[in-house]
Amino acid sequence: MEVLDILILGSGPAALCLAAELAKQNLSIKGISTKSPYEKWENTYGIWASELEELGLDSLLSHRWSETVSYFGDGINDKGNAPTKHYYDYGLINQEAFQNELLKKCKGIQWLNETAKQITSENHFSKVICFSGLTLNARLVIDASGHKSAFVQRPYLKEIAQQAAYGIVGKFSTPPVNKDQFVLMDFRSDHLNNEELLSSPSFLYAMDLGSGTYFVEETSLACYPALSQDHLKKRLLRRLNNKGIKVQEIFHEENCLFPMNLPLPYKNQSVLGFGGSASMVHPASGYMIGSLLRRAPLLAEKLATFLKDQSYSSADLATKGWHVLWPYELTQRHKLYQYGLQRLMSFDESRLRSFFSNFFKLSTKEWVGFLTNTLPLPKLIFVMSKMFINSPLKIKLGMLNIK
Ligand SMILES: Cc1cc2nc3c(=O)[nH]c(=O)nc-3n(C[C@H](O)[C@H](O)[C@H](O)COP(=O)(O)OP(=O)(O)OC[C@H]3O[C@@H](n4cnc5c(N)ncnc54)[C@H](O)[C@@H]3O)c2cc1C
Repeated sequence: MEVLDILILGSGPAALCLAAELAKQNLSIKGISTKSPYEKWENTYGIWASELEELGLDSLLSHRWSETVSYFGDGINDKGNAPTKHYYDYGLINQEAFQNELLKKCKGIQWLNETAKQITSENHFSKVICFSGLTLNARLVIDASGHKSAFVQRPYLKEIAQQAAYGIVGKFSTPPVNKDQFVLMDFRSDHLNNEELLSSPSFLYAMDLGSGTYFVEETSLACYPALSQDHLKKRLLRRLNNKGIKVQEIFHEENCLFPMNLPLPYKNQSVLGFGGSASMVHPASGYMIGSLLRRAPLLAEKLATFLKDQSYSSADLATKGWHVLWPYELTQRHKLYQYGLQRLMSFDESRLRSFFSNFFKLSTKEWVGFLTNTLPLPKLIFVMSKMFINSPLKIKLGMLNIK
């Protein structure tokens, strides 16, 4: 009977980022995935350019913008027609190049087109039963099957807030954003009536892709229950209509929905997660690709060391892996982000605009560090305290949950 060192579930960015690092470790590894790893990823992945630069991977960007702006106003009188300039490069990842680069690094890993149905833990290994009837055994199963993982155990949370967005890549009668511009958040809302303003806020995320093509996406940062695709589509079209912009051609529609506040998984379990299944999405922004790339090398290295000890069971290995993935420092930072998100979700549109306007007054190093989750815990506490002290009273009260 073959017992692999590692079996990976999934072939999305999380599975491939970790597999690419594990492949360097001289282990016996297989991957199973519902979708072939060679099938093109559908999501549009954006990232701050510096996150790839620091890893020497910035050649994987298909687009890069230096003119990066948002529109917030002051949330009181000014409705935000003056842009907040970010002076920081943002990029879109070339999915195909990224996927191929990772697959090239997955040397020696065999991928099977299978879907895991059940995982059981025997004495020293785990058994994965697939829907086809195929059974595979491995000392450690790594579940990178995404946010809806059926195998990673975590505390129950009734109200899972979701980031939802509806986007169009296409041609428009008039450019929806300036030439060479990237808009992180356009909170201008003069197309909405008062009632709509009081309901869950959403903003426009948009960019010039060149050759007369633009990507525009109406985005709800986090909301329970999630805003529907239909609702976001209507909001997007009204936003465009209000500026006299008509959609002329659609090349791609993006339907985005994923959880923002999934509780951290239990550390004592027999399966290890990575990516969406491991609650690795940044709870304040929804970004994850940078974290996957930064956190995969250490995890792979540590797992290879743990696997050398033949006495470890699947549960021992997975538990040790969870401690590497979510050490004290990152767990505490996650709690702070979760608290912040919880408060933001209670904000109406005007408070939200005021909050973000104030947030981007932090130094670039501070807000980038916050959004990429790269600030050490004491620094994160400092930055969050600074933000609080500098906030207008209504934001302070909101952060303290005082109505
Ligand atoms: C539309 C959209 C846009 C996003 N944009 C960004 C962005 O711009 N920047 C960013 O950083 N993040 C973004 N995210 C958030 C996050 O990075 C993505 O959700 C990311 O795809 C999650 O990666 P993952 O590998 O964990 O899961 P997924 O990409 O969902 O991959 C899961 C894989 O597991 C397989 N699978 C599922 N179940 C099983 C099973 N039982 N057995 C075997 N295989 C299985 C699937 O076929 C798939 O291959 C976006 C998310 C969405 C939905």
